[in-house]
Amino acid sequence: MNKAIRQQFPALHQRINGQPLAYLDSAATCQKPAPVVATIQQFYRRDNANVHRAGYTIAARATEQFEQARATVANYFGMPAKNLVWTRGCTEAINLVAFSWAIHHVNAGDLVLVSGLEHHANLIPWQQVCRTKSAELAIIPVLANGELDQQVFQQQLRRRPKLVALTHVSNVLGTINPVAEMVALAHQYEARVLIDGAQAAAHLTLDVAKLAADFYTFSGHKMYGPTGIGGVLMSDEMLAQCQPWQTGGEMVAEVSYQTASWAEPPYCFEAGTPNIAGAIGLASAISFLQQLPDGWQQHEAELLSYAKQRLAAIDGISLIGEPDEQVAVQSFISTKIHPQDLAQYLDQYGVAVRLGKHCAHPLLSALGVAATLRLSLACYSNRQDIDQLVAAIEAAHQDDVDITSLAEAERCDL
Ligand code: PMP
Repeated sequence: MNKAIRQQFPALHQRINGQPLAYLDSAATCQKPAPVVATIQQFYRRDNANVHRAGYTIAARATEQFEQARATVANYFGMPAKNLVWTRGCTEAINLVAFSWAIHHVNAGDLVLVSGLEHHANLIPWQQVCRTKSAELAIIPVLANGELDQQVFQQQLRRRPKLVALTHVSNVLGTINPVAEMVALAHQYEARVLIDGAQAAAHLTLDVAKLAADFYTFSGHKMYGPTGIGGVLMSDEMLAQCQPWQTGGEMVAEVSYQTASWAEPPYCFEAGTPNIAGAIGLASAISFLQQLPDGWQQHEAELLSYAKQRLAAIDGISLIGEPDEQVAVQSFISTKIHPQDLAQYLDQYGVAVRLGKHCAHPLLSALGVAATLRLSLACYSNRQDIDQLVAAIEAAHQDDVDITSLAEAERCDL
């Protein structure tokens, strides 16, 4: 099964520094299956035109494919097309919620509750909103095993936050948060909830309507689609409460020199020419995901435990975090070699892993580590990728790589 899946990813079949590529950085961005690449190419070769504007044939084709893509992607998440607003990705989707909803609904003295596991994309917009509106930002702490402290979460809910922002899956530790329970609890206290689905969308079966999160954000490139496309799924109620945060073409109903009125949602939140090829490419990635053979999630789970077991057996390697529910991601450090030196060394062996603070500086501080290496898996990953990683780490440990070339603080700000 895995071989047939892997076959569809041209980028995986290359050698790096004379070695087969072991791509273990899918949490940063997934490789793209050939049908996604072909779909994008076909759009530019045959159907390229702007959408929603012209009456000619290829413009109608582009518009139809673009709107069909909205339906395909929204339905994949269990939502109707009209509830999906396209953005450049998850970062822009969270900013959209911050500056089209929160800025109008969070007031002085209000509380915004954010989990301590967050990527900067789901932290800094809330810092900005709270600073602008003189609101309070509180953090749900992370326990040593990489899970959120649910007791503190419940205590903070009693303070009736306006918004709870939390990730579905941690990009550093792979922790799957119990979002269904947390959304239900938050709603009991009338808080609105934003779930950052960036790291969940390629691994978990999702039903955003059932989850009943007020906002659910994602990035296409982390689910086998192209970069520059993503979105936010919003309930009807939230769509009605948001106000456009960017203005210009595409998002209007009527315009005079002095005033303008807005198009219906979701269009009023999509000013300017959208990423048409990106949306169509993402719909193709959704078809790929839907056609994956049964058992691919099990394959990822088995591979993660294989990776953990092999890494834990290496003298001088420590795994970071041990959440009960985890997908696809494992951070680790070597007690012998600085992460940057080790990552460079691994590259010589064709192994691609992420290093640094993973855009989660406060989380790394809370965990008491300056930087980690992170492996992350996808449906195409296999045991050979892991074996290659383990062999390269063992070789690095034996080589006694120089670790004192630069000051640690200088090198870890990634
Ligand atoms: N949230 C999480 C959990 C992420 O892992 C990422 C990307 N690393 C983002 C948000 C931001 O996604 P993007 O850079 O695609 O906007």
